[in-house]
Amino acid sequence: FSSHTDWYQRTLPSKPKTQPQAGRVTLVGAGPCDPELLTLKALKAIQQADVVIYDRLVGRDILEFADPDAEMIYVGKRCGRPSMSQESINAELVRQAKAGKQVVRLKGGDPFVFGRGGEEALALVSANVAYQVIPGITAALGCAASSLIPLTHREVSRSVTLVTGQVVTGSLPAWAELVASGQTLVFYMGLEKAAQIQQGLMAHGLSSSTPVAIIGKGCSATQEVHTLSLETLEKHALELKGLSPALIILGDVVKLRAALLHNAELLQSVQEDV
Ligand code: SAH
Repeated sequence: FSSHTDWYQRTLPSKPKTQPQAGRVTLVGAGPCDPELLTLKALKAIQQADVVIYDRLVGRDILEFADPDAEMIYVGKRCGRPSMSQESINAELVRQAKAGKQVVRLKGGDPFVFGRGGEEALALVSANVAYQVIPGITAALGCAASSLIPLTHREVSRSVTLVTGQVVTGSLPAWAELVASGQTLVFYMGLEKAAQIQQGLMAHGLSSSTPVAIIGKGCSATQEVHTLSLETLEKHALELKGLSPALIILGDVVKLRAALLHNAELLQSVQEDV
């Protein structure tokens, strides 16, 4: 890790000595695990922050880019329960910015993809706090690239839908709509809902042989890629219980992976379970 830090620290300007007067909040996407997948803009914001408010999915490697004097506030989940409510997080962002601090709100992936970044931005707008948003590589894009599954591919899939596994708890699950697209589906937070996802999609006509990939700890040195078919999704998810974070990709594009694996230089050692 220190070699990453050294490289970045040589490349970028360090924190300015004089602090600007007005506080502000920067919602920053930290990408999926790998610190080298941070944008330069995100890195610069982290290095210049007085306060970093971060979630569970943000790796320690990334937090270490912050100034040693910066205040680090963890607001992620412990044992599945948020340690701080969304309202308290919003209030903390406003409080710190109004105290004149440069606040970085650091989230895994992208702040505006299943990250509640929109809600936080709205809270800042209503409190009249200046803010900006720095995008990050969302898990679907990171996991697809690092597991060699193109999310779109000519003559295989022309669109990709990002879905939350929480769709199954809604009053009217939009299964028919998802199946009708006939294209790539990516489920975030879906491993625990695998049984409902399998049943819902198959009940609405998606073939039981639809290829599926479960990617765990995507873009990390311990990434796992498991390929299977829709009819065994529930069974595999049970076997993989506890794998976190995990993403589910469904669709014919998953089949391309086998061909793409030849000659590919994998970013890290990948566990296979075909
Ligand atoms: N804002 C984030 C998503 C937060 S929701 C983003 O844009 O990526 C949390 C879910 O994201 C997890 O349950 C998992 O489904 C997915 N996820 C995030 N990082 C991941 C990773 N490195 N590997 C696999 N899935 C990941």
